[in-house]
Amino acid sequence: MVQSSEAHEHPSSSSPEKPHCIVIGGGFAGTTAAVRLTEAGWRVTLVEAREHLGGRVQSLTDGTTGETIDNGQHLMMGCYDAALGLLQTLGTAPLMRRQKALRVWFAEVLDGVPTTFCLDASLAPGKIGVLLGMMRLHGLSWREKLRLVRFAARLQLNLIKPYGKTAQTLLREEQQSERVITRLWEPIILATLNTSVQTSSATLFVEVMRIAFLGRAEASQMLIAETGLDAVLATAPAWLEERDSTVVKGIVETILVKENQVQIKQICGVRLKTGEILATDVVVSAVPLHTLTKLLSPEDLTIAALPNTERFSPSPIVSVYLWFDKEFIEQDFIALLGTTVQWVFNRRKLCRAETSVVERFPCHLSLTVSAAETFARASAQDIIKHCVEELAAVFPASRSARLLHARVIRETNATPLLTPENEHIRPKAQTPLQGLFLAGDWTNTGLPATIESAARSGEIAALAVINTSTFH
Ligand SMILES: Cc1cc2nc3c(=O)[nH]c(=O)nc-3n(C[C@H](O)[C@H](O)[C@H](O)COP(=O)(O)OP(=O)(O)OC[C@H]3O[C@@H](n4cnc5c(N)ncnc54)[C@H](O)[C@@H]3O)c2cc1C
Repeated sequence: MVQSSEAHEHPSSSSPEKPHCIVIGGGFAGTTAAVRLTEAGWRVTLVEAREHLGGRVQSLTDGTTGETIDNGQHLMMGCYDAALGLLQTLGTAPLMRRQKALRVWFAEVLDGVPTTFCLDASLAPGKIGVLLGMMRLHGLSWREKLRLVRFAARLQLNLIKPYGKTAQTLLREEQQSERVITRLWEPIILATLNTSVQTSSATLFVEVMRIAFLGRAEASQMLIAETGLDAVLATAPAWLEERDSTVVKGIVETILVKENQVQIKQICGVRLKTGEILATDVVVSAVPLHTLTKLLSPEDLTIAALPNTERFSPSPIVSVYLWFDKEFIEQDFIALLGTTVQWVFNRRKLCRAETSVVERFPCHLSLTVSAAETFARASAQDIIKHCVEELAAVFPASRSARLLHARVIRETNATPLLTPENEHIRPKAQTPLQGLFLAGDWTNTGLPATIESAARSGEIAALAVINTSTFH
């Protein structure tokens, strides 16, 4: 899909009238930066190490079933303005299936009895609907419900001071009972921050609440790709090529830096693993921090003022795809409480599949375990056994279903762990190293490390490049 670097025309040899920039990394961050800079009249060379764009959003074909699955079930939300804006530009927005209103089912075993209940925000549009949904939640006392509403009102009125706290500390200060924390807030925090309630940053949790759940009418709607999610970026190479930019397949080994006449260090290009040098004086790095630190010399790293990689440890996600010979879950997707498995996605209801595949594999589920430090270390066999046992406890009908095929995908570097300790060291787009700009879900976007943080970081980096350029 992307051109090989050998076949690629040297970037400085065409369209000399346009300013040129190299973007390293074709995940959501790099692709957004490349698209937005191209729109602004720049000629961009997007260098991506893999065959396809998408980065941590990767789709693959399962050999046994022939079905396209992702490296883990991804969800977007109606508040993903930067990411959905990118899909609009690339013409791939129709690949996403959007809920009419937020409806989240929960399942648990209470006193030995499997129970389900629903957070249904469809009674009224936007935040009123979300609040009404919370008020009608099964299994909470009136006092707990009133405290939920009080918390939401304080969020709306900006009365909450989350900085430097964990989500757990904040929720306790806001008089949320342990039951409300485990039954409502924990699944939301794990899904949106990929971090436990005990370690997650309250600042990011509050931001998620403000923009996603208490934001404008469609903000809380969930969106799921009907096919493999990386298809949403598949049109990007052609889109860029039609506008004088290009996507090059190559691994950047070094970001090249030189000293100018006034002895200031500035970017002068990148060297690929093949030895080829691509010249430019503007580079947007859209790779994870641990990769970026290997592309610069220790001296240049200090000038760029990058944070220490040890301050951002990775948080794993384990995804388990299960195929059974019959369906036993009615809902599209459902949060499990009191289990290791946190979310179950019913892919037969959410995704497209060929009739012959559905006939052979009538039930297809995708299970997610976020912040899965311990679980990720178990063997695939043990993970599958554990998941099937948990399904049997919560959905007794699954006991008569036969498991036909299973697949475990461990993403040990799924997202950086964003905590109160590192929220203030996420770097801005413009670095002190002249010509070097940063994008990526880990940079200072004010959002948890998500697709939206990545896309927003790409927009911010593009704007920073444009604003500091002498061409405009
Ligand atoms: C299993 C899983 C489930 C997730 N679920 C969700 C979800 O439901 N919702 C959500 O919003 N987010 C989710 N996320 C998080 C989301 O996928 C990431 O936050 C986002 O994709 C990060 O994008 P990025 O562009 O910042 O980085 P990346 O996607 O990591 O992109 C970096 C790119 O740089 C390339 N690269 C690296 N080194 C080089 C080099 N030297 N030269 C050239 N190219 C290089 C890589 O190949 C990659 O394409 C999930 C992540 C995982 C792993």
